[in-house]
Amino acid sequence: MIQISERVYLIGSGKDGSELSHPKDCNVFLLDGGTEAVLIDAGSGLAHETLVANIAATGIPLERVKRVLLTHIHGDHAAGAYDFYAGYGMEIAVSAEAAPWLEQGDMEKTSLTAAQRAGVYPQDFRYPACPASRRLSEGDVLTVGDISLQVLDTPGHSRGHISFVLNEGGVCSLFSGDALFAGGKIYIQNSWDCSIQDYAATIAKLHALRADRLYPGHGACLLARAHEHSARAQACFERLDIPPNL
Ligand SMILES: [Zn+2]
Repeated sequence: MIQISERVYLIGSGKDGSELSHPKDCNVFLLDGGTEAVLIDAGSGLAHETLVANIAATGIPLERVKRVLLTHIHGDHAAGAYDFYAGYGMEIAVSAEAAPWLEQGDMEKTSLTAAQRAGVYPQDFRYPACPASRRLSEGDVLTVGDISLQVLDTPGHSRGHISFVLNEGGVCSLFSGDALFAGGKIYIQNSWDCSIQDYAATIAKLHALRADRLYPGHGACLLARAHEHSARAQACFERLDIPPNL
């Protein structure tokens, strides 16, 4: 477990991050709202017990972690949702568009079948279908204890991708999933729902936030000047180029 800032802990992270848990895991954050805490993304489910132990290491009781907020339903971010739902009764919140894919464990829409063909997942891996307690869309506001998160639609990396924004004490924090990374990198894949045009619009929208802090789905977090990083991605798209890939 790594405490990144006053309210944010990294409790899971894989080969493109800190190797805290399973190599396939995305960055999994625990956001502490005081009386309530939430997970942002759930990891692959391949190191569930490690994530649970890392939550315990924060000192925040598991029963205070009532929800998992998913940025998108790729396996490395959301295949672990079911274990938190079934094991701890956590509610799973996901975008309205991606909710059916999660609920059906859809191997095509989640690009899991494609990832297996590419050798990225074992052939016997099956995406665990998981009920979605809440369907999120642009403008929704989620209250987590004494803080609130704003939901933004941020497609491009995938369809049904959302990001979460926390404004507190004059500091804007962005939980960007696979939409934006440190260094202004993005994450384009040869998958059915990746769209350069949607991605460009998403980067413009995220850059307009002038975020201070960035908590991305992979790699390093930024605790200041995140907008200088989003500016690099924005500048690439503005000259019809494509930003560097993760
Ligand atoms: Zn992804």
